Amino acid sequence: MTFTRPPWTAPALDHDFVHATGQVTDDLDPATGAVVAQVRQATAADVDTAVRRARTAFARSGWRNDGALRARVLSRYAQQLREHTDDLAELLTREQGKTLGEARSEIAGSASMVDYYAGLARAVYGRAIALGDTAHGVILREPAGVVAVITPWNWPLTLLERSLAPALAAGNACVVKPASLTPAITVAGLALLAADPELPGGILTCVTGPGHEIGDALVGHRDVDMVAFTGESVTGAQVMRMAAGQAKKVALELGGKSPNIVFADANLDKALDGALNAIFTTSGQICTAGSRLLVEAAIYDEFTESLVKRAGQLRLGDPLDPDTTLGPLVSASQARTVTEYISLGRAEGTLLAGGGEPQGGILSTGHFVAPAVIADLPPDSRVVREEVFGPVLTVHRFADDAEAIRLAEDTEFGLAAGIWTRDLDRAWRVGRAVRSGTVWINTYHHFYPEAEVGGFRGSGPGRQQGVDGLLEFTETKHLNFDSSATLW
Ligand code: NDP
Repeated sequence: MTFTRPPWTAPALDHDFVHATGQVTDDLDPATGAVVAQVRQATAADVDTAVRRARTAFARSGWRNDGALRARVLSRYAQQLREHTDDLAELLTREQGKTLGEARSEIAGSASMVDYYAGLARAVYGRAIALGDTAHGVILREPAGVVAVITPWNWPLTLLERSLAPALAAGNACVVKPASLTPAITVAGLALLAADPELPGGILTCVTGPGHEIGDALVGHRDVDMVAFTGESVTGAQVMRMAAGQAKKVALELGGKSPNIVFADANLDKALDGALNAIFTTSGQICTAGSRLLVEAAIYDEFTESLVKRAGQLRLGDPLDPDTTLGPLVSASQARTVTEYISLGRAEGTLLAGGGEPQGGILSTGHFVAPAVIADLPPDSRVVREEVFGPVLTVHRFADDAEAIRLAEDTEFGLAAGIWTRDLDRAWRVGRAVRSGTVWINTYHHFYPEAEVGGFRGSGPGRQQGVDGLLEFTETKHLNFDSSATLW
């Protein structure tokens, strides 16, 4: 059956909480090239206005001291996200290119994240301590102040809420800078929060525009107390350097090159599905992508052959079509970069799947790249070492646990890893040896708002989700009471 795209009306993005007085740019659908929305860019003066509003709201509104208010606002926001799932999911698919099914699950996950932090907003506890006969201390957890939340384009709503919801729950005022490729879904999501009658004006503001201008202005603004950044490791390091100039607090969630390790004793059917899900979710544009598949020698040939067969069955197409399993990449430049990595992989190793130019209908108009599987690459190949951020899987053979760990650890990153085995002793041993923020055992890409995620090494300092994700957005203060005589 031929799928026909439903008609589209571009959403209005002019809201009071969005500070943007610069030029208007077209926001394009990566599958068709059609205009999804028109977005006005912020200027440096707009950044200043947004931050000053946030600073004033933080100082005067009472938001930071009223956990019950914050819980009510966030809880209603979660509900609003759920009620607008259909509209938001379609906008997300049209703007980002992910399949409609994945977009719906992103909205559901975002709502769940906001709900979780709505609960924690009333549980920002400190503690008290006796300090001898006459003194005691009260240790408070206070909000950091004005937080800049800078987000990427691949999971634009979930990764926004993952920082915004705990920051607000902890009592901060937030200025959001969305990725330039996905401003419309970000603003549409935020508008549901901004419309809450109890949210004090200025606690949420947004500035749209290029990272190297608007992002820089935000990070460098004296009235921004903390930067929560999710994006590439190179950009994250720049942000960190700039923040260091003002000794500013940062939480960075950066890139990855995650190993997915399959032992011969695993449930191989589940492991095959897991390997595909690990790398081809969001067409590989996901920070935790299991992009290096390590397979035990005894099953390497059989497993790789089945994997290539299943990869060939994935359906590239219109992401709004419910039968599609892989949408386009987010932009022409992203598709070009990924295609260059595949050409390099073909030159340095054996291309087992992918590599052709998808053609016909929407495949010719959009930024589509067929899923690629590459074997026999040298360990120092850029395809093995660098984050490709596309549907490109490299496969590697290992002899035993020690070699599996050595290969898994041969990376600058440490965001996630997968282990497939029926032997739970081995899962424990290998899981402990791999230095990554998340290690999935007999599963992959399962996230829970209540469980922390984050990186070791080049994947960035910072933890998100869970209680630690809330505490990132607080400062510890000791109020010390002492009734003894002074020392002099
Ligand atoms: P980028 O680092 O290019 O951009 C991220 C955000 O930073 C965007 O809003 C961008 O704006 C902004 N930005 C760019 N330059 C600066 C600057 N100099 N100062 C301040 N802000 C700036 O990442 P992508 O958007 O390309 O996202 C993909 C990357 O994100 C991948 O590396 C992926 O691994 C990582 N990521 C990490 C996650 C994690 O949890 N660890 C989760 C998801 C993604 P603009 O869009 O205008 O350039």
